[in-house]
Amino acid sequence: MKKKIVMFGSYVADLTGTAEHLPRAGETVFGELFKIGPGGKGSNQAVAAHRAGADIILATKLGKDVFGDLARDFYTQEDIAADYVLTDDEKGTGIALICVDQVSKQNQILVVPGACTNFTDADIETLRPAIEAADILLVQFEVNMDALERVMDIARTAGVMVVLNPAPARKVSREFICKADIVTPNEVEAAALTGVSVGDAADAEKAAAVFHEWGIPQVVITMGRRGVFASTPDESRMVRARAVEAVDTTGAGDAFNGGFVTALSEGKDLFEAVEFGNALASLAVQKFGTAPSMPMRSEIEKIL
Ligand code: ADP
Repeated sequence: MKKKIVMFGSYVADLTGTAEHLPRAGETVFGELFKIGPGGKGSNQAVAAHRAGADIILATKLGKDVFGDLARDFYTQEDIAADYVLTDDEKGTGIALICVDQVSKQNQILVVPGACTNFTDADIETLRPAIEAADILLVQFEVNMDALERVMDIARTAGVMVVLNPAPARKVSREFICKADIVTPNEVEAAALTGVSVGDAADAEKAAAVFHEWGIPQVVITMGRRGVFASTPDESRMVRARAVEAVDTTGAGDAFNGGFVTALSEGKDLFEAVEFGNALASLAVQKFGTAPSMPMRSEIEKIL
């Protein structure tokens, strides 16, 4: 029996334009290509998990605008239920303006998170029954933090396992982090939270030790192409990433987290779930885009 997952998090429409160089302050540059894609860490992770076969509820918030409509169309196309996709009356759908330099591949990103940073108390009450009925709650830092804290508290009180992907990096109190059963930061986020700068496996072990000391039993630090440092109080080790030719690593962390919780929901242990997350992410980085690059279960099974 698969455990039930609820993902509470962001949706952001990625508006990407490419040009020969990035605009300087005050400059207007003619671009080449333009694309709108479904993004947002929460939504991407839920899509990854759904495509990987998880029983997952997506709880997010959109504005009353064309970007919200596009998100809803995308969820319909993906066969993802929108029962807990809420609508904000004031703020617009989250958007990210992404300018990409075609030559250097560097980018410049302005995010206006909009509706997904406007979860109200009433919204949380709407989501409460779904959270209480779940086995695993998956969350990130791309929402308003007061709402996130309440959602995590509801889960803890109901005995739901909390998986916190503390991204993007921000400093929060130790008390806040300790509401999680598992944390899945990347190197930058692990450093922002623990104060240990993470460059290699030995550093990751030190950062993981800090999380354990705070009382978090399971720690997973993602380290890009090198893989993942996974740690429990009994066992700590590097789990190598798959050796692949990456073409776009945007959203690699989202792919990993979606795969990781899917495997946990199937009863796999921490290290097996990390292997599954690595496999899923290795397929996602071989394609362009974030949500649309997430692989289907059949593709993941071929490489397991
Ligand atoms: P984030 O996108 O949050 O910065 P990471 O860069 O740590 O996250 O990547 C998350 C996971 O994606 C890694 O732990 C690894 O499994 C996979 N991954 C990332 N980059 C590569 C790569 N170049 N080759 C293979 N796997 C990768």
